[in-house]
Amino acid sequence: MSMRICRFMTTGSAKARFGLVESDMVRPLADGETIDSFPEPRTDKPISIAEVEFMAPVSPSKIVCVGRNYKEHAAELGNKMPDEPLLFLKAPSAIIADGASIERPPQSQQVEHEGELGVVIGRLARKLSEEEDPLSYVVGYTCVNDVTARDLQRKDVQFTRAKSFDTFCPVGPFIVDGLDPLKLVVTTRVNGTVKQNGRTADMAFSVPFLIRYISNIMTLYPGDLIATGTPAGVSPMKDGDVVEVEIEGIGVLRNPVRDVT
Ligand code: MG
Repeated sequence: MSMRICRFMTTGSAKARFGLVESDMVRPLADGETIDSFPEPRTDKPISIAEVEFMAPVSPSKIVCVGRNYKEHAAELGNKMPDEPLLFLKAPSAIIADGASIERPPQSQQVEHEGELGVVIGRLARKLSEEEDPLSYVVGYTCVNDVTARDLQRKDVQFTRAKSFDTFCPVGPFIVDGLDPLKLVVTTRVNGTVKQNGRTADMAFSVPFLIRYISNIMTLYPGDLIATGTPAGVSPMKDGDVVEVEIEGIGVLRNPVRDVT
C-alpha cells in the first residue's frame, strides 16, 4: 500500500513536521526527523486529522522545472522541442499549500495554470551514473501547479519573474510513494472544466532520465522538487476561479484564484 506523506502543524506548535496520513489520523515523525527518514519512519503517537493544519508537503532547497517536455504543449506556445531538457528554477518562496489562494499580481494580465507531476527527492543525488537507478532517490510524487505569468514569460529573456511570484507554486496535497511515474494521468480543471489531460508516458524526457540529467548539473537534496513539465491546454485564470490539478493515485490539488493589488 502507498504511503501518504504530509507536512503539518498543530495549534500551539511553531514548527511544521512530516507525518504519515492514515485514514483520519496523522502519524508524525519523531521530532527532528526529516523527509529522508522515509520510507521507514519512526513515528510518534497519532493525531486526529481534525487537530492538524496541512502545509505544502515540501520545503525544498530548490524547485527544478522542465519546460517543453510534452510535444503538444510546446506546439501550442509556438515552440520547437528541445534536444535536451530545458531547465529553469522557480523560487521556493512561491510554494503554497492545497486550498491556499493563487494571487494574480498587478504586473501581469495573463496568469496561467500548468498542471504537472512533481517528483520529490528523498536522498542526496549527485552525478548519478547510468548504472544507478534514479527512481531509488525519489521519496514520492505530488501534484504541482507551475503557475506562469505568460505575458511576462514572453517579454523577459528568461523565466524567473514569470514563474516566481509569491503563490505561483501550489504543491500537494500529499506526497505519495509506490507509483510508476511513467504511467500517470495529469488532469487540470478550471471551475470543473477539464483544460489539460496528459499522460506522463508522453513526456519527451522521462522522470528517471530527468533525475539523472539534473543530478549531473546540480546536487539534489532531500526534499527538492522537480516539476516535470506540463501537457497541452494551458489557459488564463481569473479572479474567483478554482483550479484543480489531479493525478491518479495522488489526489487533487485545489486552489482558488484571486486578484491582489
Ligand atoms: Mg511548467
